[in-house]
Amino acid sequence: MTNLKTNIIGLSRDQIKSVLIDADLIKLNENFRVKQIWHWLYFHGVTNIDDMTSISIDLREDLKTVFTLKRPELDKEQCSTDGTIKWLIKLEDGNLVETVYIPEDSRGTLCVSSQVGCTLNCKFCHTGTQKLVKNLSTEEIVSQLMIARDQLKDWPANENRKISNIVFMGMGEPLYNYDAVKKSVEIFSDQEGIKLSTKRITLSTSGIVPQILEWGKEVDTVLAISLHATNDELRNEIVPINKKYPLKELIKACRDYPRSRNSRRITFEYVMLKGVNDSLEDAQALVDLIEGIPAKINLIPFNPWPDSPYECSSNNQIKKFGDFINDAGYSSPVRKTRGQDIMAACGQLKSDSIKIRKSISRLQV
Ligand code: SAH
Ligand code: SF4
Repeated sequence: MTNLKTNIIGLSRDQIKSVLIDADLIKLNENFRVKQIWHWLYFHGVTNIDDMTSISIDLREDLKTVFTLKRPELDKEQCSTDGTIKWLIKLEDGNLVETVYIPEDSRGTLCVSSQVGCTLNCKFCHTGTQKLVKNLSTEEIVSQLMIARDQLKDWPANENRKISNIVFMGMGEPLYNYDAVKKSVEIFSDQEGIKLSTKRITLSTSGIVPQILEWGKEVDTVLAISLHATNDELRNEIVPINKKYPLKELIKACRDYPRSRNSRRITFEYVMLKGVNDSLEDAQALVDLIEGIPAKINLIPFNPWPDSPYECSSNNQIKKFGDFINDAGYSSPVRKTRGQDIMAACGQLKSDSIKIRKSISRLQV
């Protein structure tokens, strides 16, 4: 029996229900049982079926025969001097994935990974130098939050929780793992469990145009676009997916994104690379390019990694660039670099997992 157990983390309510019905543990109309289990799992964060105390002891024993609540193993925890924490998580199959917690005065953000490595190789990104090992499953994505909450003692999921926001800005291109990321967001935003509104969840993408539109229709979280360049020539070089989905198509997808039509802002991320994309002409081109889109521009100081080919723009230049964009009417906060001493800042994540099989390393490219 033991080897037939399913890990319940990452299953939808319907999937949980099917397992219970198949095992003859509930009847078709017993939705409240699923609701109870869900609440213990995602509101209280229990790690043991015995702790689901509102469920009868007999049923708890039966549940143990079909489900486990096992989290992946925590391999390493690193704490930055600025309060940022990076967890290296060892998945069941041995692959390693990174998750970062960034505390701020008004919120706490968890930066989750959607893939091990990435198939895209943006020139300034450390993750891009790691071959993709695999897409993460819903269980592996949701488990990142479960582990983070366990470590931070952040259960139950009430008003004062430390993790108030989630960003898909860790390792990987989330829109190349569409279904698992979508299911994870459904679990994160379920109002009887983790209860994070989609307004507090940000999907960051390098610009996979067809999936941006699909995502907007089906899920509609906050959207962040890793823009970084305002002309195709430069963007082809530093964000090579641009060759497949050039700027014109990308900007059109942003205009058509449902949130943007409802005047909610899209975030454009712009990494500041010295002498590459940081002149005031670039700033002007940026303003022209996104004209009419409700937007905020996040300027990200480039975070170096061993042998990285760029330098970060000077503070002075970042300020000038930001002021220019501000004067044009856009909010342009400079993203504070967090956790750089533990290589946890944007674009610095890279686990030691290596490509195992060639056949799965080219997913969706
Ligand atoms: N793959 C997705 C999400 C992960 S990357 C994407 O590209 O959007 C999260 C953000 O960090 C992206 O905007 C990415 O372009 C940026 N980034 C990558 N490497 C960086 C680096 N070395 N310094 C600063 N930002 C970087
Ligand atoms: Fe992949 Fe994003 Fe890094 Fe580009 S910036 S290589 S899409 S993780």
